Amino acid sequence: MHAAVFYGPGNIVNEEVYYNYNDKKGGVSLIVNACAVCGYDARVFRNGHQKVTAPVILGHEICGQIDKDVLVTNTANDARAQTTIKAGSRVAVSPIIPCIDCKYCCNKEYNLCINRKEIGSSIDGGFAEYVRIPEEIIKIGGIVSVPENLSDEEAALLEPLACCLNGFSHMRRPIGSKTNVMVIGDGPIGLLHLQISKRLYNARTILVGKIPQRIEIAKSLGADTTVTLSSTDDSDDYNSNKDNIYGTNNVTKGILDFANGVGVNVIIIATSNPAALGFALKIASKGSIINIFAGFRSGNLISLDPKWLHYNQISITGSFSSTPNSLQQAVRLASRGIINLSRMITHRYSLTEIEEAVKATEEYHGLRAVINEF
Ligand SMILES: [Zn+2]
Ligand SMILES: [Zn+2]
Repeated sequence: MHAAVFYGPGNIVNEEVYYNYNDKKGGVSLIVNACAVCGYDARVFRNGHQKVTAPVILGHEICGQIDKDVLVTNTANDARAQTTIKAGSRVAVSPIIPCIDCKYCCNKEYNLCINRKEIGSSIDGGFAEYVRIPEEIIKIGGIVSVPENLSDEEAALLEPLACCLNGFSHMRRPIGSKTNVMVIGDGPIGLLHLQISKRLYNARTILVGKIPQRIEIAKSLGADTTVTLSSTDDSDDYNSNKDNIYGTNNVTKGILDFANGVGVNVIIIATSNPAALGFALKIASKGSIINIFAGFRSGNLISLDPKWLHYNQISITGSFSSTPNSLQQAVRLASRGIINLSRMITHRYSLTEIEEAVKATEEYHGLRAVINEF
């Protein structure tokens, strides 16, 4: 089959690789219809990652067609409820491969599995004509039928939507029309958080970003207010101790004004710029929740005053990936038109153009790039 194989930082080769259709290890084969390029893929391409052992095929935001009938457990309702997805059906995939045995798996927290593997990181992913979905994913309901009214490329974005929904599902705080939510980051992930915040919770939502075209999209998606930070600032330099764009008084004041002077109740960090963390601390209200959604390079430390944390009852949380429940919720929200996935897709490429797709992603051209020709 054709595949884009990652051999190490900066090195992806389009080549023919052997694919075993009759793999005796079980699972199911997908003909890949679309696979979106995640910021994670771009970071792995550029720098490698501890989870990734080359050579491997990247890509975990996948829509594909199954090659045989598959009996899938519906974990959202009842572990015993099973449905058959017919051969030829299109499916979206939860890329976490759990062991089904550890204490987290027993608690259905498959994304926290201590023996976790992942499609597109530790085993071959979707930047190829075919991808094998291991048995463990099927056992936990990790492949979900795609409704007719979603295109292949929209279906590829169900996975990142599921990750955002997973983040919201762990916020132990009611969110409603009086809640001030701030999303830091104007990429596809930030804009998905914005959509969830507005359309699912009807919260007053601030979107903070750097790229004017993306800020315009945020406004059209219903952001109550937006903040455009200077894009010429060097705060993306991880080792910089200088004041950063988030530190300007005007930005802080504008947001506090919007939040009636008391600060923001829910802050979602959807950028891997470490400066966003310090900024979040300045803007947080009493009783607020700060969710670190984005993946950071290791070694970024935040300094925190525990007294401030204590007296203001602040929660700082993280969220990673998703479970099949969130993927099923993502399918419902996207197919009912509550969340718009097509607006998140701006670039389309064939597999042979994978490097261009990665470049477009890391240089913030548009939003998601999708590979849709294999
Ligand atoms: Zn992703
Ligand atoms: Zn496990």
